[in-house]
Amino acid sequence: MNFNHTTFLKNIAQTTASPMLLDIEKAEGIYLYAPNGKKYMDLISGVAVSNIGHRHPRVIKAIKDQLDKHLHVMVYGEYVQSSPNLLAEKLTGLLPKELSCCYFTNSGTEAIEGALKLAKRYTGRTQIISCERAYHGSTHGALSISGNESKKQAFRPLLPDVKFMRFNVVEDLNMITDETACVIIEPVQGDAGVRIPSKNYLKLLRQKCNMHGVLLIFDEIQTGIGRTGKLFAFEHFNVIPDILTSAKALGGGLPMGTFISSYEIMHHLTHNPMLGHITTFGGNPVCCSAALATLQVIEDENLLDQVEKKGKLFEQLLVHDKIKEVRRLGLMFAFEFETENEVYRIVQECMTHGVICFWFLSCPNSFRIAPPLTITEAEITAACNIILTAVDQL
Ligand code: PLP
Repeated sequence: MNFNHTTFLKNIAQTTASPMLLDIEKAEGIYLYAPNGKKYMDLISGVAVSNIGHRHPRVIKAIKDQLDKHLHVMVYGEYVQSSPNLLAEKLTGLLPKELSCCYFTNSGTEAIEGALKLAKRYTGRTQIISCERAYHGSTHGALSISGNESKKQAFRPLLPDVKFMRFNVVEDLNMITDETACVIIEPVQGDAGVRIPSKNYLKLLRQKCNMHGVLLIFDEIQTGIGRTGKLFAFEHFNVIPDILTSAKALGGGLPMGTFISSYEIMHHLTHNPMLGHITTFGGNPVCCSAALATLQVIEDENLLDQVEKKGKLFEQLLVHDKIKEVRRLGLMFAFEFETENEVYRIVQECMTHGVICFWFLSCPNSFRIAPPLTITEAEITAACNIILTAVDQL
Protein backbone atom coordinates (compact mmCIF):
# COMPACT_ATOMS: atom_id res chain seq x y z
CA MET A 1 0.00 0.00 0.00
CA ASN A 2 1.27 3.46 -0.81
CA PHE A 3 -0.35 6.47 0.78
CA ASN A 4 2.83 8.53 0.42
CA HIS A 5 1.83 12.18 0.16
CA THR A 6 5.13 13.15 -1.50
CA THR A 7 4.41 10.75 -4.37
CA PHE A 8 0.86 12.06 -4.59
CA LEU A 9 1.95 15.68 -4.66
CA LYS A 10 4.99 15.27 -6.94
CA ASN A 11 4.16 12.41 -9.31
CA ILE A 12 0.45 12.97 -9.76
CA ALA A 13 -0.64 16.18 -11.48
CA GLN A 14 -2.09 18.62 -9.00
CA THR A 15 -4.86 20.99 -9.99
CA THR A 16 -5.23 22.65 -6.61
CA ALA A 17 -2.66 23.90 -4.11
CA SER A 18 -4.71 22.52 -1.22
CA PRO A 19 -6.10 19.04 -1.99
CA MET A 20 -8.07 17.36 0.80
CA LEU A 21 -5.27 14.75 1.21
CA LEU A 22 -7.52 12.12 2.70
CA ASP A 23 -6.03 8.60 2.51
CA ILE A 24 -8.72 6.19 1.38
CA GLU A 25 -8.28 2.45 1.60
CA LYS A 26 -11.82 1.22 1.22
CA ALA A 27 -15.35 2.45 0.58
CA GLU A 28 -18.64 0.72 1.25
CA GLY A 29 -22.19 2.07 1.31
CA ILE A 30 -22.10 5.67 2.52
CA TYR A 31 -18.70 5.27 4.22
CA LEU A 32 -15.08 5.85 3.26
CA TYR A 33 -12.35 4.18 5.34
CA ALA A 34 -8.83 5.46 5.95
CA PRO A 35 -5.93 3.01 6.42
CA ASN A 36 -5.86 3.85 10.15
CA GLY A 37 -9.43 2.60 10.40
CA LYS A 38 -11.03 6.05 10.62
CA LYS A 39 -14.45 6.12 9.00
CA TYR A 40 -15.95 9.03 7.06
CA MET A 41 -19.56 9.53 6.11
CA ASP A 42 -19.52 10.51 2.43
CA LEU A 43 -22.16 13.23 2.26
CA ILE A 44 -21.18 14.23 -1.27
CA SER A 45 -21.15 10.82 -2.99
CA GLY A 46 -17.76 11.53 -4.57
CA VAL A 47 -19.50 14.59 -6.07
CA ALA A 48 -22.84 13.19 -7.18
CA VAL A 49 -21.51 9.79 -8.29
CA SER A 50 -22.23 7.19 -5.60
CA ASN A 51 -25.99 7.75 -5.57
CA ILE A 52 -26.60 4.10 -4.65
CA GLY A 53 -23.64 4.08 -2.23
CA HIS A 54 -20.10 2.86 -2.77
CA ARG A 55 -19.58 -0.66 -4.08
CA HIS A 56 -23.21 -1.65 -4.19
CA PRO A 57 -23.15 -5.50 -4.19
CA ARG A 58 -25.27 -5.72 -7.34
CA VAL A 59 -22.97 -3.35 -9.19
CA ILE A 60 -19.94 -5.36 -8.07
CA LYS A 61 -21.60 -8.59 -9.20
CA ALA A 62 -22.52 -7.10 -12.60
CA ILE A 63 -18.94 -5.92 -13.08
CA LYS A 64 -17.52 -9.34 -12.12
CA ASP A 65 -19.96 -11.15 -14.41
CA GLN A 66 -18.94 -8.93 -17.32
CA LEU A 67 -15.22 -9.38 -16.51
CA ASP A 68 -15.74 -13.10 -17.02
CA LYS A 69 -17.20 -12.51 -20.49
CA HIS A 70 -15.15 -9.80 -22.19
CA LEU A 71 -13.56 -6.40 -21.69
CA HIS A 72 -13.00 -3.97 -24.55
CA VAL A 73 -13.32 -5.69 -27.91
CA MET A 74 -13.71 -2.89 -30.46
CA VAL A 75 -14.03 0.89 -30.85
CA TYR A 76 -17.48 2.49 -30.58
CA GLY A 77 -20.32 1.37 -32.77
CA GLU A 78 -19.03 -1.63 -34.70
CA TYR A 79 -19.61 -4.88 -32.79
CA VAL A 80 -22.92 -5.80 -31.21
CA GLN A 81 -22.35 -6.33 -27.48
CA SER A 82 -24.93 -7.39 -24.96
CA SER A 83 -24.24 -4.94 -22.11
CA PRO A 84 -24.54 -1.62 -24.05
CA ASN A 85 -27.62 -3.06 -25.77
CA LEU A 86 -29.26 -3.96 -22.45
CA LEU A 87 -28.37 -0.57 -20.98
CA ALA A 88 -29.77 1.35 -23.96
CA GLU A 89 -32.98 -0.67 -23.78
CA LYS A 90 -33.34 -0.07 -20.04
CA LEU A 91 -32.47 3.63 -20.10
CA THR A 92 -34.65 4.57 -23.06
CA GLY A 93 -37.48 2.52 -21.54
CA LEU A 94 -37.37 4.87 -18.53
CA LEU A 95 -37.42 8.01 -20.68
CA PRO A 96 -40.06 9.74 -22.83
CA LYS A 97 -40.34 8.31 -26.35
CA GLU A 98 -38.51 11.32 -27.84
CA LEU A 99 -35.34 10.17 -26.05
CA SER A 100 -34.86 6.80 -27.67
CA CYS A 101 -31.27 6.68 -28.88
CA CYS A 102 -28.14 6.72 -26.69
CA TYR A 103 -24.56 7.55 -27.54
CA PHE A 104 -22.38 6.17 -24.73
CA THR A 105 -19.30 8.17 -23.71
CA ASN A 106 -16.49 7.94 -21.17
CA SER A 107 -17.36 11.00 -19.12
CA GLY A 108 -19.76 13.87 -18.61
CA THR A 109 -17.67 16.34 -20.50
CA GLU A 110 -17.48 14.01 -23.51
CA ALA A 111 -21.27 13.67 -23.44
CA ILE A 112 -21.47 17.48 -23.57
CA GLU A 113 -19.06 17.62 -26.52
CA GLY A 114 -21.13 15.06 -28.38
CA ALA A 115 -24.38 16.87 -27.61
CA LEU A 116 -23.02 20.20 -28.90
CA LYS A 117 -21.66 18.61 -32.07
CA LEU A 118 -24.97 16.86 -32.67
CA ALA A 119 -26.93 20.12 -32.28
CA LYS A 120 -24.63 21.92 -34.73
CA ARG A 121 -24.77 19.06 -37.20
CA TYR A 122 -28.57 18.71 -36.99
CA THR A 123 -29.46 22.40 -37.26
CA GLY A 124 -26.62 23.48 -39.56
CA ARG A 125 -26.17 26.46 -37.22
CA THR A 126 -23.27 27.39 -35.00
CA GLN A 127 -24.59 29.61 -32.23
CA ILE A 128 -24.78 28.05 -28.79
CA ILE A 129 -26.58 29.68 -25.88
CA SER A 130 -25.65 28.70 -22.36
CA CYS A 131 -26.25 30.19 -18.89
CA GLU A 132 -24.18 32.38 -16.67
CA ARG A 133 -22.53 30.37 -13.86
CA ALA A 134 -23.16 27.09 -15.68
CA TYR A 135 -20.68 24.24 -15.37
CA HIS A 136 -20.57 21.71 -18.21
CA GLY A 137 -17.05 20.29 -17.98
CA SER A 138 -13.44 21.13 -18.64
CA THR A 139 -12.56 20.25 -22.26
CA HIS A 140 -12.39 23.11 -24.76
CA GLY A 141 -16.02 22.87 -25.91
CA ALA A 142 -17.46 22.29 -22.45
CA LEU A 143 -15.30 25.04 -20.99
CA SER A 144 -16.48 27.45 -23.71
CA ILE A 145 -20.09 27.05 -22.58
CA SER A 146 -19.33 27.16 -18.86
CA GLY A 147 -19.80 30.43 -17.06
CA ASN A 148 -16.87 30.80 -14.69
CA GLU A 149 -14.64 33.36 -16.42
CA SER A 150 -11.71 32.88 -14.05
CA LYS A 151 -11.44 29.23 -15.13
CA LYS A 152 -11.63 30.12 -18.84
CA GLN A 153 -9.51 33.16 -19.52
CA ALA A 154 -6.13 31.39 -19.67
CA PHE A 155 -7.37 28.99 -22.34
CA ARG A 156 -8.73 31.36 -24.97
CA PRO A 157 -9.46 31.25 -27.84
CA LEU A 158 -12.34 28.93 -27.03
CA LEU A 159 -15.41 28.07 -29.15
CA PRO A 160 -16.73 31.07 -31.08
CA ASP A 161 -20.43 31.99 -31.28
CA VAL A 162 -21.30 31.19 -27.67
CA LYS A 163 -23.68 33.50 -25.79
CA PHE A 164 -24.67 33.52 -22.15
CA MET A 165 -28.09 34.30 -20.76
CA ARG A 166 -28.98 34.71 -17.11
CA PHE A 167 -30.41 31.53 -15.57
CA ASN A 168 -34.11 31.72 -14.77
CA VAL A 169 -34.55 35.18 -16.32
CA VAL A 170 -37.44 35.01 -18.79
CA GLU A 171 -36.53 38.24 -20.56
CA ASP A 172 -33.16 36.76 -21.63
CA LEU A 173 -34.95 34.04 -23.59
CA ASN A 174 -35.24 36.69 -26.31
CA MET A 175 -31.60 36.00 -27.09
CA ILE A 176 -32.79 32.78 -28.76
CA THR A 177 -33.28 33.34 -32.51
CA ASP A 178 -33.25 31.54 -35.87
CA GLU A 179 -29.45 31.70 -35.71
CA THR A 180 -29.27 29.56 -32.58
CA ALA A 181 -28.31 25.90 -32.87
CA CYS A 182 -29.01 24.95 -29.29
CA VAL A 183 -29.60 26.11 -25.77
CA ILE A 184 -27.77 24.07 -23.15
CA ILE A 185 -28.88 24.29 -19.56
CA GLU A 186 -28.75 22.40 -16.27
CA PRO A 187 -32.44 22.15 -15.25
CA VAL A 188 -31.15 22.74 -11.72
CA GLN A 189 -27.77 24.46 -11.73
CA GLY A 190 -25.30 22.43 -9.71
CA ASP A 191 -21.96 24.15 -9.34
CA ALA A 192 -23.61 27.56 -9.34
CA GLY A 193 -24.82 26.52 -5.88
CA VAL A 194 -28.04 24.53 -6.50
CA ARG A 195 -30.20 27.05 -8.37
CA ILE A 196 -33.75 25.86 -8.95
CA PRO A 197 -35.70 27.62 -11.71
CA SER A 198 -39.23 28.88 -11.23
CA LYS A 199 -41.93 26.44 -12.38
CA ASN A 200 -42.65 28.13 -15.69
CA TYR A 201 -39.15 29.04 -16.82
CA LEU A 202 -38.19 25.77 -18.50
CA LYS A 203 -41.61 25.60 -20.19
CA LEU A 204 -41.10 29.07 -21.67
CA LEU A 205 -37.58 28.08 -22.71
CA ARG A 206 -38.98 25.00 -24.47
CA GLN A 207 -41.57 27.13 -26.28
CA LYS A 208 -38.96 29.63 -27.43
CA CYS A 209 -36.73 26.82 -28.74
CA ASN A 210 -39.67 25.31 -30.62
CA MET A 211 -40.52 28.68 -32.14
CA HIS A 212 -37.03 29.03 -33.65
CA GLY A 213 -36.16 25.41 -34.47
CA VAL A 214 -33.53 25.35 -31.74
CA LEU A 215 -32.48 22.15 -29.99
CA LEU A 216 -32.84 22.16 -26.21
CA ILE A 217 -30.12 20.29 -24.33
CA PHE A 218 -30.57 19.42 -20.66
CA ASP A 219 -27.33 18.69 -18.86
CA GLU A 220 -28.35 16.24 -16.14
CA ILE A 221 -24.88 15.01 -15.42
CA GLN A 222 -25.19 16.15 -11.81
CA THR A 223 -28.97 16.19 -11.34
CA GLY A 224 -29.72 12.82 -12.94
CA ILE A 225 -29.99 9.25 -11.67
CA GLY A 226 -32.28 10.04 -8.77
CA ARG A 227 -30.41 12.93 -7.17
CA THR A 228 -33.48 15.21 -7.07
CA GLY A 229 -36.06 12.50 -6.35
CA LYS A 230 -36.90 11.77 -10.00
CA LEU A 231 -34.69 9.73 -12.28
CA PHE A 232 -34.01 13.00 -14.12
CA ALA A 233 -34.75 16.49 -12.82
CA PHE A 234 -36.63 17.50 -15.99
CA GLU A 235 -39.49 15.30 -14.77
CA HIS A 236 -40.20 17.90 -12.03
CA PHE A 237 -40.86 20.50 -14.71
CA ASN A 238 -42.71 18.48 -17.37
CA VAL A 239 -40.40 19.68 -20.09
CA ILE A 240 -38.68 17.24 -22.41
CA PRO A 241 -35.35 18.20 -23.99
CA ASP A 242 -34.20 17.28 -27.50
CA ILE A 243 -30.92 16.02 -26.11
CA LEU A 244 -30.27 14.80 -22.57
CA THR A 245 -26.82 14.28 -21.08
CA SER A 246 -26.09 11.98 -18.14
CA ALA A 247 -22.90 10.72 -16.49
CA LYS A 248 -21.50 10.70 -12.91
CA ALA A 249 -23.97 8.46 -10.98
CA LEU A 250 -24.98 6.61 -14.15
CA GLY A 251 -21.95 4.32 -13.98
CA GLY A 252 -22.46 3.31 -10.34
CA GLY A 253 -18.81 4.22 -9.68
CA LEU A 254 -17.30 3.46 -13.10
CA PRO A 255 -16.63 6.14 -15.76
CA MET A 256 -19.68 6.39 -17.94
CA GLY A 257 -21.65 9.06 -19.75
CA THR A 258 -24.24 9.38 -22.45
CA PHE A 259 -26.06 11.85 -24.63
CA ILE A 260 -29.52 10.75 -25.61
CA SER A 261 -31.82 12.02 -28.33
CA SER A 262 -34.33 10.79 -30.90
CA TYR A 263 -33.25 8.32 -33.57
CA GLU A 264 -33.99 10.99 -36.19
CA ILE A 265 -31.70 13.60 -34.62
CA MET A 266 -28.99 11.14 -33.59
CA HIS A 267 -28.79 9.75 -37.11
CA HIS A 268 -27.09 12.95 -38.22
CA LEU A 269 -23.87 11.57 -36.74
CA THR A 270 -24.00 8.74 -39.31
CA HIS A 271 -23.60 10.77 -42.52
CA ASN A 272 -21.89 13.90 -43.86
CA PRO A 273 -19.45 13.20 -42.33
CA MET A 274 -19.82 9.60 -41.25
CA LEU A 275 -18.39 8.92 -37.79
CA GLY A 276 -19.75 12.22 -36.51
CA HIS A 277 -18.42 11.44 -33.05
CA ILE A 278 -15.70 8.90 -32.44
CA THR A 279 -14.57 7.22 -29.23
CA THR A 280 -12.47 4.17 -28.48
CA PHE A 281 -13.81 3.30 -25.05
CA GLY A 282 -17.29 4.87 -25.06
CA GLY A 283 -19.85 2.17 -24.24
CA ASN A 284 -17.23 0.04 -22.52
CA PRO A 285 -18.99 -3.24 -21.66
CA VAL A 286 -17.92 -3.28 -18.00
CA CYS A 287 -19.09 0.30 -17.46
CA CYS A 288 -22.38 -0.43 -19.22
CA SER A 289 -22.96 -3.47 -17.00
CA ALA A 290 -22.36 -1.33 -13.91
CA ALA A 291 -24.76 1.31 -15.24
CA LEU A 292 -27.48 -1.23 -15.95
CA ALA A 293 -27.16 -2.64 -12.42
CA THR A 294 -27.33 0.90 -11.02
CA LEU A 295 -30.63 1.61 -12.76
CA GLN A 296 -32.00 -1.73 -11.59
CA VAL A 297 -31.00 -1.00 -7.98
CA ILE A 298 -32.72 2.39 -8.06
CA GLU A 299 -35.87 0.70 -9.27
CA ASP A 300 -35.82 -2.44 -7.10
CA GLU A 301 -34.94 -0.62 -3.87
CA ASN A 302 -37.53 2.11 -4.52
CA LEU A 303 -34.85 4.71 -3.90
CA LEU A 304 -36.65 7.54 -5.68
CA ASP A 305 -39.61 7.28 -3.31
CA GLN A 306 -37.35 7.91 -0.30
CA VAL A 307 -35.51 10.97 -1.56
CA GLU A 308 -37.98 13.69 -0.62
CA LYS A 309 -38.50 12.40 2.92
CA LYS A 310 -34.75 12.18 3.52
CA GLY A 311 -34.17 15.60 1.95
CA LYS A 312 -36.81 17.12 4.23
CA LEU A 313 -35.23 15.51 7.29
CA PHE A 314 -31.87 17.12 6.48
CA GLU A 315 -33.62 20.45 6.02
CA GLN A 316 -35.52 20.15 9.31
CA LEU A 317 -32.41 19.21 11.26
CA LEU A 318 -29.95 21.66 9.74
CA VAL A 319 -31.36 24.86 11.14
CA HIS A 320 -28.97 27.45 12.57
CA ASP A 321 -28.94 31.24 12.58
CA LYS A 322 -25.56 31.19 10.83
CA ILE A 323 -27.13 29.36 7.86
CA LYS A 324 -28.47 32.17 5.69
CA GLU A 325 -30.24 30.11 3.06
CA VAL A 326 -30.84 26.49 2.13
CA ARG A 327 -31.41 25.61 -1.53
CA ARG A 328 -32.59 22.06 -2.09
CA LEU A 329 -34.21 19.74 -4.57
CA GLY A 330 -34.42 16.15 -3.37
CA LEU A 331 -31.04 15.25 -1.90
CA MET A 332 -29.11 18.02 -3.62
CA PHE A 333 -28.33 20.88 -1.23
CA ALA A 334 -26.51 24.17 -0.90
CA PHE A 335 -26.15 25.81 2.52
CA GLU A 336 -25.36 29.49 2.26
CA PHE A 337 -23.24 31.39 4.81
CA GLU A 338 -22.09 34.95 5.22
CA THR A 339 -18.50 34.34 4.09
CA GLU A 340 -16.29 31.95 2.14
CA ASN A 341 -14.08 31.57 5.20
CA GLU A 342 -16.99 30.20 7.25
CA VAL A 343 -17.67 27.62 4.56
CA TYR A 344 -14.02 26.59 4.51
CA ARG A 345 -13.92 26.16 8.28
CA ILE A 346 -17.12 24.10 8.38
CA VAL A 347 -15.95 21.73 5.65
CA GLN A 348 -12.61 21.23 7.43
CA GLU A 349 -14.21 20.76 10.85
CA CYS A 350 -16.74 18.24 9.50
CA MET A 351 -13.94 16.28 7.85
CA THR A 352 -12.04 16.14 11.14
CA HIS A 353 -15.14 14.65 12.74
CA GLY A 354 -15.77 12.12 10.00
CA VAL A 355 -18.27 13.85 7.70
CA ILE A 356 -17.39 14.83 4.15
CA CYS A 357 -19.00 18.00 2.79
CA PHE A 358 -17.62 20.02 -0.12
CA TRP A 359 -17.65 23.43 -1.79
CA PHE A 360 -18.94 24.61 -5.17
CA LEU A 361 -16.93 25.84 -8.14
CA SER A 362 -18.96 29.02 -8.63
CA CYS A 363 -20.57 29.68 -5.25
CA PRO A 364 -17.92 30.27 -2.60
CA ASN A 365 -20.32 31.21 0.23
CA SER A 366 -22.12 27.86 0.21
CA PHE A 367 -21.19 24.27 0.90
CA ARG A 368 -22.79 21.30 -0.76
CA ILE A 369 -24.15 18.01 0.36
CA ALA A 370 -25.42 15.32 -1.99
CA PRO A 371 -25.42 12.08 0.01
CA PRO A 372 -26.02 8.59 -1.34
CA LEU A 373 -29.77 8.10 -1.71
CA THR A 374 -29.33 4.98 0.44
CA ILE A 375 -28.44 6.99 3.56
CA THR A 376 -30.66 6.04 6.54
CA GLU A 377 -32.58 8.42 8.81
CA ALA A 378 -30.29 7.53 11.75
CA GLU A 379 -27.24 8.36 9.60
CA ILE A 380 -28.82 11.66 8.54
CA THR A 381 -29.37 12.57 12.20
CA ALA A 382 -25.78 11.66 13.13
CA ALA A 383 -24.36 13.64 10.17
CA CYS A 384 -26.49 16.71 10.95
CA ASN A 385 -25.32 16.71 14.58
CA ILE A 386 -21.70 16.85 13.41
CA ILE A 387 -22.44 19.62 10.90
CA LEU A 388 -24.33 21.68 13.50
CA THR A 389 -21.47 21.33 15.98
CA ALA A 390 -19.10 22.60 13.28
CA VAL A 391 -21.41 25.56 12.56
CA ASP A 392 -21.63 26.30 16.30
CA GLN A 393 -17.88 26.69 16.42
CA LEU A 394 -17.74 29.53 13.88
N1 PLP B 1 -21.99 18.88 -16.46
C1 PLP B 1 -22.30 19.04 -15.16
C2 PLP B 1 -23.60 19.66 -14.77
C3 PLP B 1 -21.39 18.65 -14.16
O1 PLP B 1 -21.69 18.83 -12.87
C4 PLP B 1 -20.16 18.07 -14.57
C5 PLP B 1 -19.18 17.66 -13.56
O2 PLP B 1 -19.19 18.09 -12.43
C6 PLP B 1 -19.89 17.90 -15.94
C7 PLP B 1 -20.83 18.32 -16.85
C8 PLP B 1 -18.62 17.28 -16.41
O3 PLP B 1 -18.62 15.89 -16.13
P1 PLP B 1 -17.26 15.10 -16.01
O4 PLP B 1 -16.52 15.63 -14.83
O5 PLP B 1 -17.68 13.64 -15.88
O6 PLP B 1 -16.50 15.29 -17.27
